[in-house]
Amino acid sequence: MSGDAILKVAIDAPVMGTFDYLAPAGTSPQPGQRLRVPFRNGKRVGVVLATAGQSTLPASRLRRALEVLDPEPLLDAPLLALLDWASGYYQHPPGEVCATAMPRLLRHGRDADTGRLVWQLTPAGRSAQETGAAARAPVQSRLLAALAAAADGLDADALATVAARWQPAARELERRGWARRRRHDAWERDAAAAAEPAPMPTPAQAEAVASITAADGFRPFLLQGVTGSGKTEVYLRCIAGQLAAGRQSLVLVPEIGLTPQLVARFRRRFPDAGSVVLHSGLTDLQRLQAWQRARAGQAGIIIGTRSAVFTPLARPGLIVVDEEHDGSFKQQDGFRYSARDIAVWRARQLGVPVVLGSATPSLESLANAVAGRYQRLRLPERTGTAGHPSVHFVDLRRHVATDGLAQPLVAAIGRHLDAGGQVLLYLNRRGYAPTLMCPGCGQCVECGRCDARMVLHRRERRISCHHCGASRPVPERCAACGGELFAVGQGTERLEAALGELFSGQPLVRLDRDSTRGRDGIAQRLDEVASGRARILLGTQMLTKGHDFPGVTLVGIIDADQGLFGTDFRAAEKLAQTFVQVSGRAGRADRPGEVYIQTLFPDHPLLQVLVREGYERFAEDALAERRAAGWPPFSFLAMLRAEAVTREPALAFLGRARAAGEDCDTRDLRLLGPAPAPMERRAGRYRAQILVEAASRSRLQQFLAAWRERVAALPEAGRTRWSLDVDPVDLF
Ligand code: ADP
Ligand code: ZN
Repeated sequence: MSGDAILKVAIDAPVMGTFDYLAPAGTSPQPGQRLRVPFRNGKRVGVVLATAGQSTLPASRLRRALEVLDPEPLLDAPLLALLDWASGYYQHPPGEVCATAMPRLLRHGRDADTGRLVWQLTPAGRSAQETGAAARAPVQSRLLAALAAAADGLDADALATVAARWQPAARELERRGWARRRRHDAWERDAAAAAEPAPMPTPAQAEAVASITAADGFRPFLLQGVTGSGKTEVYLRCIAGQLAAGRQSLVLVPEIGLTPQLVARFRRRFPDAGSVVLHSGLTDLQRLQAWQRARAGQAGIIIGTRSAVFTPLARPGLIVVDEEHDGSFKQQDGFRYSARDIAVWRARQLGVPVVLGSATPSLESLANAVAGRYQRLRLPERTGTAGHPSVHFVDLRRHVATDGLAQPLVAAIGRHLDAGGQVLLYLNRRGYAPTLMCPGCGQCVECGRCDARMVLHRRERRISCHHCGASRPVPERCAACGGELFAVGQGTERLEAALGELFSGQPLVRLDRDSTRGRDGIAQRLDEVASGRARILLGTQMLTKGHDFPGVTLVGIIDADQGLFGTDFRAAEKLAQTFVQVSGRAGRADRPGEVYIQTLFPDHPLLQVLVREGYERFAEDALAERRAAGWPPFSFLAMLRAEAVTREPALAFLGRARAAGEDCDTRDLRLLGPAPAPMERRAGRYRAQILVEAASRSRLQQFLAAWRERVAALPEAGRTRWSLDVDPVDLF
């Protein structure tokens, strides 16, 4: 046994580090191959990350892997290096990181080969068929004739229709070298269609495309252009160039369910590119097939959400991150990675350009552009529209809003509907009303498990908590005093009802998580809007994600004050992005749009700067504030979170963790906390946190590596739920 190579194996388990195994007898698995290994009292699938000469385990405890699952490495060296880096950077167990990068079937040990087995004629078989060499074996000659007529070969089912006892005959054909078996890719191609022609690029588009195309090797670009300025068209042109050069493009989008239009557009433009779309509606097998096609280089375009950033690529040429500011690129639990940041790292590693596109870039990316680390490309004009929408404030101190709608907005809606325009109303609160209150004693109905109020969903006759999902029938009376309960405030459901009464007969579509369960629901609703059938569109954050609604001429922001006074240092940035994204839906070729903003604070500097001077000016101010306050991107953060069923253990654990941190090298960094989380109780657990703020990324990384090890070694660590979040996007 001595001299056996030691395999460093990543196993999907919450343990930092790899596990040592010996190779199954007579095998020498390489990094990137999967193994089945004995693990604790069971078996697990693991991935070989490296081989080593010796193990830190005593020989008596070293176990042998049971089986090598892949004939060749499934994950190539660059992908393994990426996963290794991500595991270190995010301080997350490598096994869980690898699991994120693999389709479920592979994690569970399935054969990576997805093809259907087919039999094909060899050239020798073809001449045998022509010369009648198998004439004395009737089944064989029938198979030969059938195979000669089938260019793509025949599978078992097809051969069974040729001859019931086809198997021995097929084996004989193989033995004689007349037929061979191979895996046939069972991928369903898009129906062959002519490629949709590309429009003439505008000068700004042409310049952006030229810059990106000229990039020789790694180069990050920030493509900044308002909604409808033609960013997608720039991606499409760059991708066309990559396809022509035989290279693949990886396109990351925030939520595919919400952007069927985008996917359809890629398919129409490149019907032959073998595009694969990684979305949540795929079966496990389809997902594996898509993954394999990307890995084999057969897919020219790979479109997917966050986790698609780990898709293997045989011939990478370009990475695009669309709507790069979107919060969904950051995973909020488990392996808390940022797909946007990993995309940039990966582009550097692969030596390819990466394009981050947005109308409202994140302050991080803008700072990178200002510092010259990213090359900025601008698309200043909207294609074919009559300029920017005009913006009006509706001062809610002077106008009373009934069911969320004040008179000036109601009048504007009427005007635009009469003129044949479509109306889009944004309210980021689903349900009927966010609060059920008893006017008698002033109590609100609260969630029993969270520091939060229950939201009334009137149609379902239930109240539910949007934080933990708790749900129960609407209570008849106040639990404290028996008084009657009133619905206070508005959600999209209430707004829908009010609009239905004010504008009866006008087809209306509501877009939020409650109204769009299932992918088809969304696609169908977007269709109703795109086709013009629906006149009024109302919804939540979902509306802001990259849809193109050319018929919308009026946008109403029902409640601008939500988030105006947020506690999180990113609140203003998020609000500004939402505003600009929503307003960007207004206007079309023949008529400039209008935006109505309802607010109690029309003079608020944030709103004023945004409306008068635009997002870029807002961002400059916001960056100056961040610099003064020492927030990202001028500092680097990590958050250690802990939770427990009572308050004390979480705080006690963090107290110990803080002390452990003080023992590490804390130059150029500060530890803040422990402190209770802004919303302390959630789903029945008390939450607390320590924020680490560092002057540089490398100092943060050094500190975290040392700290995490000490924290994990604390006696309380095994009894407490805790996690480390590197580059947290919200501080809750
Ligand atoms: P964005 O991604 O910035 O929202 P799109 O690329 O979707 O912008 O373009 C918005 C609309 O303008 C689309 O309908 C698109 O087909 C059209 N468009 C984009 N570029 C051009 C162009 N150069 N000429 C004509 N139409 C264009
Ligand atoms: Zn709750």
